[in-house]
Amino acid sequence: MPELTEAEVRALAMQLVEDVPPDQVDQFEFRGAQFDRGLAMVQFPEGLGGLGLSSRRLQTAVDSELRSAGVTYNDLLINPIGIGMGGPVVLTYATDEQKQRLLRPMFTGEEIWCQMFSEPGSGSDVAGLSTRAERDGDEWIVNGQKVWTTLAHVSRWGMLVARTNPDQPKHKGLTYFLLDMESPGVEVRPLHQITGEAEFNEVFLSDVRIPHDNVFGDVGGGWGAAVTTLMNERVALGGGVPKKGSGPIQDLVNIWTETRDSLDPVTAAVLRDRVADLWVQAEALRLTNWRAREASRGGNPGPEGSVTKLMSAEMNQHIYETCMDVIGAGGMLYEAGYERKRPDGLRGPDSHIRYAFLRARANTIEGGTSEVMRNILGERVLGLPGDVRVDKELPWSEVPRN
Ligand SMILES: Cc1cc2nc3c(=O)[nH]c(=O)nc-3n(C[C@H](O)[C@H](O)[C@H](O)COP(=O)(O)OP(=O)(O)OC[C@H]3O[C@@H](n4cnc5c(N)ncnc54)[C@H](O)[C@@H]3O)c2cc1C
Repeated sequence: MPELTEAEVRALAMQLVEDVPPDQVDQFEFRGAQFDRGLAMVQFPEGLGGLGLSSRRLQTAVDSELRSAGVTYNDLLINPIGIGMGGPVVLTYATDEQKQRLLRPMFTGEEIWCQMFSEPGSGSDVAGLSTRAERDGDEWIVNGQKVWTTLAHVSRWGMLVARTNPDQPKHKGLTYFLLDMESPGVEVRPLHQITGEAEFNEVFLSDVRIPHDNVFGDVGGGWGAAVTTLMNERVALGGGVPKKGSGPIQDLVNIWTETRDSLDPVTAAVLRDRVADLWVQAEALRLTNWRAREASRGGNPGPEGSVTKLMSAEMNQHIYETCMDVIGAGGMLYEAGYERKRPDGLRGPDSHIRYAFLRARANTIEGGTSEVMRNILGERVLGLPGDVRVDKELPWSEVPRN
């Protein structure tokens, strides 16, 4: 298909709403129709949820048209890891048959995905991971443990990185697998966060069999596919290009507007400065995200995603800390019944401020810590000397570890 104009893409979105009225069908039907018409991820090929456009820029036009028509589905809540990271990985590494099989239910939310990289001994240094996969004919047998696996308890598919050759240096002996989470030997146990919710889990893998066809990329080439996943994760976590003044900053402005008249003049003056400063930062982040989206065009993003991931994580924490300061002592009142829940998905912007304040503590850890983001930016964007890596060339099996 030749490149479409913004007006043509908007017209397609309006036609979708007219033909499949969102208030008369459920999520799966509406999003299925959106996928079939190429309006799920416009930069994806035709037949695979996209229109084959050279840039994802016009997805913003589709999303805004759907929002105006009252469609409120949010990819980040429906299937954050599938849509944010799994989609680009499938497009880059899967066979045509797998793309046909996997992308549609991923987008509709019928099949949730999780990311199985981190282990008890390998988080920032994920290339040092220990989960082993050994070849057995047309299958691989996997043994090991993953941790912090978001939404593993509701997932159908896991993006799993395992060590297939311990005698190679750590980055070279890894292979990337698509794991059916319903396979025998997969055990998922909840881990509760500071919010009381168990969004994430420990996953134990005991003699789990994965067909060789579910290797993404080359055997031993798992690091490349892992980096593709992580770069997309950082763009997803960086916040996208929301409406001006929306998201966390809107929470702060709302709280501020409700509370400012009850504050003493000195406190109000100090807090007003902080609110204004954060509003400017939020707008700078939104515009930076816009530039990062343009820079990555239709392909996989580069290290620019680390800029917005770092900025948004730290800014979110400052925003919700400021919310707590505006609310004052009442900020300590958590919602009644601090339940240890196991949610079906991630919580949306309707969550209360105290929850958001606690949840934001994880922002500077998940998807790579702020220290690691600064290392990436220093090395890969600014060209500064690299971090010290004494184990980089050693066979993984010879690296001392606990
Ligand atoms: C809410 C949440 C959800 C998550 N979801 C997932 C998921 O779905 N799948 C998944 O695989 N993982 C997930 N994670 C794990 C996350 O990716 C790791 O926690 C993160 O990469 C840090 O690893 P770690 O916890 O092992 O800390 P470590 O790597 O042990 O780091 C400890 C401290 O040392 C610092 N540090 C480490 N190396 C360096 C260095 N080279 N230079 C400077 N400082 C350094 C870190 O910044 C940190 O402060 C999630 C984490 C959270 C909090």
